[in-house]
Amino acid sequence: MNLKDLNDRQREAVLHTEGPLLIIAGAGSGKTRAMTYRIAHLIEQGVKPWHILALTFTNKAAREMFTRVEQLTGVTAEEIWIGTFHSICVRILRRDIEKIGYARSFTIYDDDDQQRVLKDLFKRFDIDDKELTLREVKNIIGDAKNKLMNADEWFAQSRRDRRAQVIHDLFAAYDARLKAANALDFDDLLNKTLELLLDHPPVLQHYRQRFQYVHVDEYQDTNLAQYTLVKLLTEESRNLCVVGDDDQSIYGWRGADIRNILEFNKDFPEAKVIKLEQNYRSTQTILDAANSVIKNNENRMDKSLWTEGKKGEKIKFAAAGDEREESAWICEHIRRLRNRKVPLSEIAVLYRMHAQSRVMEEMFMRAGIPYKVYGGTRFYDRKEVKDALAYLRTLVNPDDDVALKRIINVPKRAIGDATVAVLEEQADQDSSPMYAVLRDLPDSLGSRPRKCVKAFVELMDKLDEQRKQLPLGDFVKLMLEETGLLKQYEDTTDEELLTKRDNLLEFLGAAYEYEKLTEDATLESYLENVALVTDLDMQEDAPQFVTLMTLHSAKGLEYRAVFIAGMEDGLLPSARAKQEENRMEEERRLCYVGITRAKEYLYLSRTRHRAIFNQASYNQPSPYLAEIPKSLISDAYGKAMKEHFGEYKPPKERVRPSQRQPKTSFGIPGMGQDPADIPGVTKGFFPSVSVELDEPVQIFKEGDKVLHKKFGTGEVIGTSGEGAEARVSIRFTAYGDKEFSVAIAPIVKVE
Ligand code: ATP
Ligand code: MG
Repeated sequence: MNLKDLNDRQREAVLHTEGPLLIIAGAGSGKTRAMTYRIAHLIEQGVKPWHILALTFTNKAAREMFTRVEQLTGVTAEEIWIGTFHSICVRILRRDIEKIGYARSFTIYDDDDQQRVLKDLFKRFDIDDKELTLREVKNIIGDAKNKLMNADEWFAQSRRDRRAQVIHDLFAAYDARLKAANALDFDDLLNKTLELLLDHPPVLQHYRQRFQYVHVDEYQDTNLAQYTLVKLLTEESRNLCVVGDDDQSIYGWRGADIRNILEFNKDFPEAKVIKLEQNYRSTQTILDAANSVIKNNENRMDKSLWTEGKKGEKIKFAAAGDEREESAWICEHIRRLRNRKVPLSEIAVLYRMHAQSRVMEEMFMRAGIPYKVYGGTRFYDRKEVKDALAYLRTLVNPDDDVALKRIINVPKRAIGDATVAVLEEQADQDSSPMYAVLRDLPDSLGSRPRKCVKAFVELMDKLDEQRKQLPLGDFVKLMLEETGLLKQYEDTTDEELLTKRDNLLEFLGAAYEYEKLTEDATLESYLENVALVTDLDMQEDAPQFVTLMTLHSAKGLEYRAVFIAGMEDGLLPSARAKQEENRMEEERRLCYVGITRAKEYLYLSRTRHRAIFNQASYNQPSPYLAEIPKSLISDAYGKAMKEHFGEYKPPKERVRPSQRQPKTSFGIPGMGQDPADIPGVTKGFFPSVSVELDEPVQIFKEGDKVLHKKFGTGEVIGTSGEGAEARVSIRFTAYGDKEFSVAIAPIVKVE
């Protein structure tokens, strides 16, 4: 490792190995880099890898840090625990959760599972969802858990009226349900870890001794539970290094508390504080813009970023007529960036709301720009994939009622709602999980349902037997076949059903891949891996795609070119944030995070008229735009663009989102279709975007190696037609032969 790769202040941070350390500094000043080098340095100094813990914001960041440490030290750093708070907590719980009354095979409930439990309870408590919504209750529970409160504690500090009583009862019943199902939700992962450590001193002692050097990146976005965990682990050793930027605290709405970083020296008065001010990421112009926006926040530590780097190009700005025009403008500039040899992987388009991506996706397809949407509906959240997962979950943890109820009649096997109700009631009476009732059926059940349930149990027993004998991938394949999940989507020409089938095959592919990459791949570890993939991790490192994502997901990342779309009042800041006094500064920080992701090129755009969430509105520019000095901006929506796209005319007829094409697969709406036929693409509005953007349509020849956004790698086996009509046949490594229109399909050549 070479300490010359660091500046003096970073080096100071790396060399300060004993005692608490706070690195607080602006974006792109090398905080994460300093933390990574510090870990590498510790190992070089002879610290045993297992004495080091590093908490990162995403699993992806963890992987990167891990690889970097290995590169720097040359040792395989397997024993270092680097991961997100959630994944580290799961590791701790898998060892010792029995001490607090759960089985080690516990299931992790995601958003959808939580909703199902609550929905059930709403029915049981007979709650009118006009008075109280599921979302509300879920948020209250999540918020309370973030503040380390259980149902009673929450009630004690509430208004304690009738409504609060109902919420309390739901909250308590929800927790009881999860406990009975041997399941934890995401917030529980943290809270139960705390419970374990606090109630079992020997366990706490074990981890205190183990983790002698604790690091936390993005510390400004930790919540109370995370803060408490870190404090608990390091109170004795006092070897804690936290890294962050108060200006990038953007998860307040999820319980993150900026005071954790601002008041670090209350807990650790002896802490060394290091500020970094030199920025290595962005041009002076981009930094000036970022500084001039963020300085308008009142509650912040004053810092100013500078760089030795170039002044760089001006920021390009467009006030587009509507979101289609905005997207077309972005496409055009991506084309120009490509001509300047900026690879697609170095380009990101950021926005405030997931919903903004839809129109962009359509435009990107028309323009033949390969892209990847980060976040949105996760692959693992798709219905068919969740069904498959539910089978696996039930096998591993038969107490998991949510999973069991999901699949007991999927595919249809004549176990109707009435039967399920009888089974549930019995389970309630016996206070046992439902699966136990399936084995010991109540007499009140008729003979036909009885037979169907028996057949189901036999199926599950058979699968359970086979899972002990087969490797993971083969077992998942067998499960998909034996259960009939795959069969539901076969023998059909219905595109939507076929897509579901493809998704199941993709799911199978993922299981095989996991098996290949993981030593000792078990079904348990696979499920855990899936449960912990958050929407922030969905982006694989695919070099040939433009990245589309929300500003929130972009934290910590960097790109040569960054677009921020929708710089409008009501989007950034969001309409909801505007109603709350203290959220406005957080929105400005979000804007700052966006700007500071850019290394060389920054593009800002807004529309005058936008349709989103089934509403059309005329918008004022975002107030943050006016905070950037005019001298830094060039109005790129000038004459050239007008000539290119013609004068903007307000659309006569808006397409309502209800007519939208349902997403088919991997976030590509209407893939494989003529885009002009996709509802939502206004015909004739930009009739020739893909043609006029003189992006050369890719020319393929036999033997070319290609990458398809969904089907992965393959080889060209034939071509036909020309220009816009050109078609290409590809033999995919994993999916066999398929044919596409060159102009539309998300395919790129790989060298
Ligand atoms: P953020 O606040 O966005 O998380 P950060 O402070 O963590 O940013 P890094 O991501 O560590 O910053 O660094 C930003 C960029 O600057 C990276 O590309 C990194 O490799 C580079 N960099 C950091 N320090 C140095 C240095 N001393 N010399 C050269 N490049 C550096
Ligand atoms: Mg960082």
